Amino acid sequence: MIRERHLFGPGPSNTYPEATSALARPLLGHLDPVFLEVMDETCEMLRTVWGTSNARTLPLSATGSAGMEAAFVNTVHPGDVVVVAVNGLFGQRMCDVAARCGAEVVPVEHEWGRPVDVQRVVEAHPSPAIIAAVHAETSTGVRSDIAALGAAKGDALLVTDAVTSIGGIELRADDWGIDVGYAGTQKCLGVAPGLAPFTINDRAFERRVEKPQSWYLDLGLLGGYVGEASSSSLQRTYHHTAPTAMVASLHAGLARVLEEGLEQVWARHESAGAALQAGLQEMGLELFAAEGHRLPELTTVRVPEAVDSAKVRRRLLEHHGIEIGAGAGAYAASVWRIGLMGPNARPDAVLLVLAALREALDHA
Ligand SMILES: *Cc1c(COP(=O)(O)O)cnc(C)c1O
Repeated sequence: MIRERHLFGPGPSNTYPEATSALARPLLGHLDPVFLEVMDETCEMLRTVWGTSNARTLPLSATGSAGMEAAFVNTVHPGDVVVVAVNGLFGQRMCDVAARCGAEVVPVEHEWGRPVDVQRVVEAHPSPAIIAAVHAETSTGVRSDIAALGAAKGDALLVTDAVTSIGGIELRADDWGIDVGYAGTQKCLGVAPGLAPFTINDRAFERRVEKPQSWYLDLGLLGGYVGEASSSSLQRTYHHTAPTAMVASLHAGLARVLEEGLEQVWARHESAGAALQAGLQEMGLELFAAEGHRLPELTTVRVPEAVDSAKVRRRLLEHHGIEIGAGAGAYAASVWRIGLMGPNARPDAVLLVLAALREALDHA
């Protein structure tokens, strides 16, 4: 028997109970008309949380990183210039993925903990095919202004990583000019890991790679099964076995979020994050991310001088059942990452993590 954990790290977070109970329903086949209805409703609810009317909005059958892979493998033609805003680990990963697709990558490096500098990014190259940026950098706890980037992108396609922003903070794909977006289920959406909510508009789909290197993530092939498929379920064709239980779980999680109201859910994340950040500062701890650009759902805090970061995390886990994250990259031992995502964006979770951290620091 595994003791229940409070998942207050950078993801996965604890899940909404509705999402978890959906996993116990009788399993449906991936071409069952009842399942196809669940799939269609899931795509429709995903449009709402993405803030898009894109027909091609669907849950890819893999985690957020596969969403990243799908974004680039379907849009990068060999030799294309891809400008990537790098202000953390996931921006770095975008460079790697785009390069493997044959892109000429132009990374625009930022100091970690700072938001994306839109001016520098758009001036990095006169005519890039793609500009890519992370909306919520989970490695540093920083929010970047995607709307400003979308307004300045010119003819380039804008690829956006919304893994840690979807269902947590304001996200408006169409209004902001996002052409291709990918996300994950296990952060603010409060669903277990396993699917990548994905959206691509007509402009990007028309410029897509006809026969991408990846068969599994080929959006042209996937379209026959989800998204643009005919409303008649009989015309759906088999591509791969959709993880039907996971889709049912995402369906239930999205319904839970939309029932509460998207803006209310955003407000709940904002106030939990603000309370946590105020509490940490009252304890004399120093926040890592630049003021004014801090994510409410993922807080980065500096480990005090002379404190053993791993020892504190171990005590939190063993004595309090609380998981928080170590820092990313060069900050592995000097920063903690505390996530309050999905059902954890609540005042009681704030009090719990602050009290436990105080106790663990007293024993450090
Ligand atoms: C977690 C995360 C990913 C990767 O998602 P996986 O589900 O771990 O594959 C990508 N980008 C950001 C910003 C993330 O936080």
